[in-house]
Amino acid sequence: MNNSKIWLSSPHMGGKEQEFVKEAFDANWVAPLGPNVNGLEHDLEQYLGESANVGALSSGTAAIHLGLLLLGVQVGDFVLCQSMTFSASANPILYQGATPVFIDSESATWNLCPVALEAGIQACIAQGKTPKAIIAVHLYGVPYQIDAIRAVADRYSIPILEDSAEALGSSYKGQKCGTFGDIGVLSFNGNKIITTSGGGAIVTKTKAQKDKAVFYATQSRDDAPHYQHSHIGYNYRMSNISAGIGRGQMEVLDAHVELRRQMQAFYVSLFKEISGVTVFTAPTSDYYPNYWLSAITIDPSLTKGITRETLRLAFEADNIESRPLWKPMHLQPIFENYPYYGGTVAETLFDNGLCLPSGSNLTDDDRVRIASVVQQVFG
Ligand SMILES: *Cc1c(COP(=O)(O)O)cnc(C)c1O
Repeated sequence: MNNSKIWLSSPHMGGKEQEFVKEAFDANWVAPLGPNVNGLEHDLEQYLGESANVGALSSGTAAIHLGLLLLGVQVGDFVLCQSMTFSASANPILYQGATPVFIDSESATWNLCPVALEAGIQACIAQGKTPKAIIAVHLYGVPYQIDAIRAVADRYSIPILEDSAEALGSSYKGQKCGTFGDIGVLSFNGNKIITTSGGGAIVTKTKAQKDKAVFYATQSRDDAPHYQHSHIGYNYRMSNISAGIGRGQMEVLDAHVELRRQMQAFYVSLFKEISGVTVFTAPTSDYYPNYWLSAITIDPSLTKGITRETLRLAFEADNIESRPLWKPMHLQPIFENYPYYGGTVAETLFDNGLCLPSGSNLTDDDRVRIASVVQQVFG
């Protein structure tokens, strides 16, 4: 059997991407903006429903930054943020000169713990300032506790910035992720569920908010024949070429979600008989995760000392990529001096968790190789 690299999550083209990109070349729409940008925004609005307004941007990180801007986050404000996430959820808080307040996860969805969230909010209020925003993440495509988090946010009238970078195609009670926050964020980075080779989008409730985000994203040019600026501007718009790739990817999004869900089901059956290994699975049928990445936790007290590191190294020896879960932000050198509320749920997940190859383009041969490493490790 061949020994080529099996990736955690690599781009998977559907076929139509090159046609949209070729159209852009043929019409010389290589400059930024153009019909593919509008087309991708339209496709996403149709897909998300719930009268979503979508602005295509250069990255998910840019969308988070502009989301904070739209929510009025300024120097010295508090912004609550899920600790267990990718650093891009939190970095834009610092771009705005605001203070991140990190919150632990709960163990059912691995996302924001409503109890710790409320403790964090009350601590900020005790210091005289209601937080300006809550950044909630759907980790690995599993929705956070939508109703419980919304209830806490509404009790204190704090808007939610929904980081749905990993959750395009996931839904909760039939509603698509990306539409639950006061503002939503999507990513089309190379490793995400669909890619534009690099890109993202902001999802807003009103057309006026979308227009404002696009205004900021295109250097905040006032309406004048010359270059006139009365706001700080950003160069955050998606290019027409990237958007062409995205339009092709939208045609295969649902098929790719189904394939990722089948990878998660493959792991559930692979680890069924192995005690001490739990495959990350949504808590109830209200949740419809895209399972962007399949992940497991290993309890070494039940596996005769086999840890996630044992398994990771065995995969690595066979040229198979796997990776520990996101290291919580409150444990990162850049963020360790900011406040944190909660216990050790996120920390324990980080210690014991491993993300496994999850791409929609994995083959039967790949699955055979993965299974044989698992058998070799767990005997
Ligand atoms: C990928 C990711 C982002 C950032 O998206 P980019 O498009 O790479 O900038 C933000 N948050 C989470 C949770 C992500 O996984």
